[in-house]
Amino acid sequence: MNSLIDSIITIDGAQGEGGGQILRTALSLSMITGKAFTLTNIRAGRKKPGLMRQHLVCVQSAQQISNAKVEGAMLGSQELIFQPQQVQAGEYHFQIGSAGSTTLVLQTILPALLLQNESSQISIQGGTHNPLAPSADFISMCFLPTLQKIGVEVDFQLEKVGFMPIGAGQIRASIHPWLDRKALNLCERGDVQRIESFAGCLNLDKTDINQRELDTLSKKLNIDHAHQMHMHGVSQGNALAVLVKFAAHQQLFTALGTMNRSAERVANGLASEVRQYLGTGAMVDEYLADQLLLPLALGAGGSFTASHISEHTRTQAQMIQRFMDCDIQLLEAEKPCHITVNRT
Ligand code: ATP
Repeated sequence: MNSLIDSIITIDGAQGEGGGQILRTALSLSMITGKAFTLTNIRAGRKKPGLMRQHLVCVQSAQQISNAKVEGAMLGSQELIFQPQQVQAGEYHFQIGSAGSTTLVLQTILPALLLQNESSQISIQGGTHNPLAPSADFISMCFLPTLQKIGVEVDFQLEKVGFMPIGAGQIRASIHPWLDRKALNLCERGDVQRIESFAGCLNLDKTDINQRELDTLSKKLNIDHAHQMHMHGVSQGNALAVLVKFAAHQQLFTALGTMNRSAERVANGLASEVRQYLGTGAMVDEYLADQLLLPLALGAGGSFTASHISEHTRTQAQMIQRFMDCDIQLLEAEKPCHITVNRT
């Protein structure tokens, strides 16, 4: 294990949030900085620690695009050594082989590919609408539109929807060189301009689920437009979303239908989440907040207001500062919370 190199960064996967994000951030930053790392106690904070399929494919995809030397890349592994070489733009296809999240694999390799001189074409098969991960809708309607403001150009398509447990969804992304790195400023929210709702079902017998969800959302929120989403794929499931638009930002909230929970209950839960966010006066929700830190650290920095500073966000800030000289301020005493990222 110690055969690789001397100046290796050592990371304890049990720190802070203790989940898969520590691994993904280490992979992204290792490829970008060229610094090797060892990661121990992988996902020690989870019931089933070690690499699950999604995490393993994150390692394998990072290995492939950076021609890395890797030890410990196997299912269940709780220790990994990763030594990247040159990142290569190109055409890549990755298959998770389960319903593991395709979007988390995309987020792992995206930063390194954005910093290349040529475009890359990526396709990833697996889950596209997973609990506790950004859905493909979140990527297309919230994450990427926000990154566009800092100069990132990615064309994204959801080709097939994949729900657990079957998965078999597919996303595709063309990632273009990040030429013009702009600072982000999402601090003054202003008035809500528009709220839209979305609901879609895939291969379910009941035909009224979408409409019941959209009707419930309309009773709880001032919805300007309700959309039925058309889904293709072989798995089964139901997803809904609410998009809140301001002049400078659009924030998406998502939920998944669950067996034994009525459409009304799922939609009411989502409406409460949106109302709570609206009450904070913040621009960015807690999930987008942790996902923005790395792009801002690699770009020209920036600041934004956030509804909540999660343990994911705190851990992410610490991880970035292990690899890069960067000042990240998480100001929780202010309401709404305020986050700034500056390259030092
Ligand atoms: P683990 O099983 O170890 O928790 P994981 O690899 O699935 O690992 P986390 O480390 O918990 O995931 O990271 C999950 C990521 O998904 C975070 O970046 C978080 O912001 C994002 N995420 C979770 N829920 C949502 C949501 N509803 N909308 C958008 N993004 C989300």
